[in-house]
Amino acid sequence: MSARRLQGIALCLILTLSGNVLSQERNERDDPALQRVAPFQVFDNLYYVGAEWVAAWLLVSDQGLILFDALYGDLTDIAVDGIRELGFDPDEIRYVIVSHAHGDHVGGARRFQQEFGAVVMMTEADWNMTEASDGSRYPKPVRHLSVSDGSTLNLGRTRLRFMVTPGHTPGVLSTRFTVYDNGYPHEAFMFGGVGLNFTGVERTEAYINSVQRLQQLQGIEVNVPNHASFNDVFMRQEMLQERRDGDPHPFVDPESWTAWLDLLLLDAQAKLEDEREAAQ
Ligand SMILES: [Zn+2]
Repeated sequence: MSARRLQGIALCLILTLSGNVLSQERNERDDPALQRVAPFQVFDNLYYVGAEWVAAWLLVSDQGLILFDALYGDLTDIAVDGIRELGFDPDEIRYVIVSHAHGDHVGGARRFQQEFGAVVMMTEADWNMTEASDGSRYPKPVRHLSVSDGSTLNLGRTRLRFMVTPGHTPGVLSTRFTVYDNGYPHEAFMFGGVGLNFTGVERTEAYINSVQRLQQLQGIEVNVPNHASFNDVFMRQEMLQERRDGDPHPFVDPESWTAWLDLLLLDAQAKLEDEREAAQ
């Protein structure tokens, strides 16, 4: 057998294996038994109710609940059950803030509208994206509120401040809010769309511009990610459980927030070079 033929077989094997690994990963991601995480409190007013690989966060106000992201398919049960396990009532969810219109974040939104009467909020661009989808991957939510850059939402004494930070999708929604640690306030931020799984020079430039806008923000102390791995959420949670009186809160970490943005920018700038080359 020629060396080239052998090489070809080896390449095929690698491709087949990686294909299997990919589909296996996808199955594991969608399997609620493997994805179930016991819900936990992180701040006085913020709880994790997400899955292993994709996050959902519950923000508690004096006038009801706000849910960040809706999970999808059977994973949405994790959020609904988690809210109940924590002693809250999903009927008290006033708003579902959808960070962006990819299925893993928006997939369960329709259920929160139908079953619990929540108002779903997304950017105009990502509402359009959801409506343009064929509806085969998740039930489409009914268009409720569109959020624009610089707008705010008040619920009781809780205030959310929104930014539209496109790139990952055309209308990524990012949110700034205050969390409390034994009554002591900290500024938290959720960057709603991380990841370079898109193509095009313009989109990449938009992503870079978004990251640079976040780098200009002053005073962010807590990174609330929409995938747990972006900020070692489970590791920090373990540290939180072992925290003693007087220890700092492991999620209050402004240095890691800025370091993370620096990394995101570097990755995106490398992608921009590739995209520009590809466009020539
Ligand atoms: Zn996404």
